[in-house]
Amino acid sequence: MSVILRARIHLNGLVQGVGFRPFVYRTARRLGLKGFVVNDTTGVVIEVEGSGDDIEGFFHALRNDKPPLAEIFSEEVTYEAPCGYDEFQIRTSHTSGRNDVALLPDIATCRECTAELNSPSDRRYRYPFINCTNCGPRFTIIERLPYDRPNTTMKDFRMCPDCEAEYHDPADRRFHAQPNACPVCGPKVWLLKGDSTTVAEGDEALAGVVSLIGSGGIVAVKGIGGFHLLCDATNDEAVETLRRRKRRSEKPFAVMFKDLRQLLRYAEASGAERALLLSPSRPVVLLKRRPGLLEAVSQGLKSVGAFLPYSPLHTVILEGLDVPVVATSGNLSEEPIVKDNDEALERLAPLVDHILLHDRPIHRRCDDPVVKVVGGKAQMIRRSRGYVPVPLLLPFRLERRVLAVGGHLKNTFAIGFEDRVILSQHIGDMDAPESMDFFEEAIEDLSSIYRFTPDVIAHDLHPGYSTTRWALGREGAEKVAVQHHHAHILSCMAENGLTDRVLGVSWDGTGYGEDGTLWGGEFLLCDGRGYRRLFHLRPLRLIGGEKAVREPRRTALSILFELFGREALEMDLSALRGFKEGELVLLWNAWQKGINSPLSSSAGRLFDALASLMDVVQVCTYEAQAAMMVEDLFDPAVKDRYTYSIRDGVIDLLPAFHEVLRERERTRAATRFMNTLARIIIEVAGLVGEERVCLSGGVFQNSPLSSLVIEGLRKEGFEVFTHRVVPANDGGISLGQAVFGGMSS
Ligand code: ZN
Ligand code: ZN
Ligand code: FE
Repeated sequence: MSVILRARIHLNGLVQGVGFRPFVYRTARRLGLKGFVVNDTTGVVIEVEGSGDDIEGFFHALRNDKPPLAEIFSEEVTYEAPCGYDEFQIRTSHTSGRNDVALLPDIATCRECTAELNSPSDRRYRYPFINCTNCGPRFTIIERLPYDRPNTTMKDFRMCPDCEAEYHDPADRRFHAQPNACPVCGPKVWLLKGDSTTVAEGDEALAGVVSLIGSGGIVAVKGIGGFHLLCDATNDEAVETLRRRKRRSEKPFAVMFKDLRQLLRYAEASGAERALLLSPSRPVVLLKRRPGLLEAVSQGLKSVGAFLPYSPLHTVILEGLDVPVVATSGNLSEEPIVKDNDEALERLAPLVDHILLHDRPIHRRCDDPVVKVVGGKAQMIRRSRGYVPVPLLLPFRLERRVLAVGGHLKNTFAIGFEDRVILSQHIGDMDAPESMDFFEEAIEDLSSIYRFTPDVIAHDLHPGYSTTRWALGREGAEKVAVQHHHAHILSCMAENGLTDRVLGVSWDGTGYGEDGTLWGGEFLLCDGRGYRRLFHLRPLRLIGGEKAVREPRRTALSILFELFGREALEMDLSALRGFKEGELVLLWNAWQKGINSPLSSSAGRLFDALASLMDVVQVCTYEAQAAMMVEDLFDPAVKDRYTYSIRDGVIDLLPAFHEVLRERERTRAATRFMNTLARIIIEVAGLVGEERVCLSGGVFQNSPLSSLVIEGLRKEGFEVFTHRVVPANDGGISLGQAVFGGMSS
């Protein structure tokens, strides 16, 4: 007879809402073990009682056969005296003091559910809320932990006997699937006309959406993390109407395709890109568009943001159409995405012809994520639905609990404690007052779900950011300011598990520098604690401050003044033609006297200047437009570059712009310019001699430039680190701020 043992196992990680308890239940029963499994607020607790061999078999299964979405961050095991359990049970969850179980992201419809959705004999045929333990909404429906149905927005839907039976059957795919539902007992959809009269319900409402889109209409559809505005992506008139109503004149729209086959008719996708498109997060992937297609959607860019249906509702709608649809966030311009029915009636009704509502409340707003493949690897552009709030594990423990409020554009914030940082979903640009409400709402939400109170609040050094002002207005916690470009590099270091010294290349649009000027073309020698600014791009005046960010021609003008002085006013250049009579003289005076013309060493602005001088764009309507248009012009056949100089730590590109003025072809100019920037980074890295180089800042979202820099540095023997899981843009700086704030004291 073998000795009976009792093991108590505590697991922390992605263990709730992924079919973990059913898996444990089945495994324990198979091995004849007795005991229980229970969710609590710190993870899953398991007790198994049986022979040593069987318990070992249990651990083996835990390691090797766990559900596909489960991930274990830490495991504690203790052995106690057997207490004579007579069966194995799934126990009701209880709450304990701490809350650090990982809240799960939303997961795209799995293959089995999709098959049922499309099967006429299935009781959930065309049911837009089908899900199981392997898929469905999580982050957007969980009100509090632990993850059980009464703690989700499904709490008011009582399961019918059929659903109930699945829920309690350990052999069923829906065993303990918290959002389990069917047409009898679950959420329902209905379609409203602009004047809020209901015109159809259920399947008829879905068919209504299909025919409205098919006939050129614009429909708001409530999805997983908020509303989308949908229209036929191939109907230029519909797309233009949507642009006008949404007040988004040129920024490309994301397009949802029925399936990969349809997508490939409109865009190219590599193996890595296909894998991303089909991954459980189902991000928008920036792909190379096939020429001549989706022009109105893409507005001149060669790329298209493409994604596949990730909820059954989207699957059913797309299934009925022969065309891809624009699926853009339901909001005005850069405001937060709309999530509630009332809110939609008020704010979206004016933008659309019809609205499709449903009665499963969305607890958290969450926009679609955006990813791009650079050099064969996924790079996050916007980390949101499907990724949030998976914690980022640090290679060290934070000394203090930290709230990092992020930056001003593409804001995310983060909370950090122990060995992890949890980044919020995409909050957006903080200019809109609604963004501030969303920011506060989301901070309150994450704080309450993790029962989190910060010891320290980390914020950007920029005194004018609304997030900085918000941070300084909080009582109780200490405040720490973090320089913008330092935060970028710390973020890249944290993501790559680095703590020792690196050369940080931090290139972006703009960030507040220690000297009160605007930085953005920085080479910083960084370690975990501080940094030294070793090299930077030559500062130029941004004539009109903020205005210069929107108008590339102003940076071009600043460069012309540097090169030719007042004589620039007489030049016959397309960059100057758009200015009104007399305006140029005023701008000359402003430049000369430095009136409202702050100095900036930004790399992003140089892309603007080039775009203006080559007449690619003079006035932008969305952030980073010029940089994206210049990136688009890259031609790998062009290998040469322009002249620049480096003296006393300052890199001067004025000679390059002198040459740009003689250039005839845009493609040549853009490519030579990017070749030049890459060469600068490689040369400076050589001058610094630090073996490890971190690349961060929005400029590194530029694929050809990033590839040139990475390849060039590797060839010279450098170890290069880039972003993968957090954005290189300002959406990633909250991670760097959290590391700095959590470590300093
Ligand atoms: Zn499923
Ligand atoms: Zn049911
Ligand atoms: Fe930045």
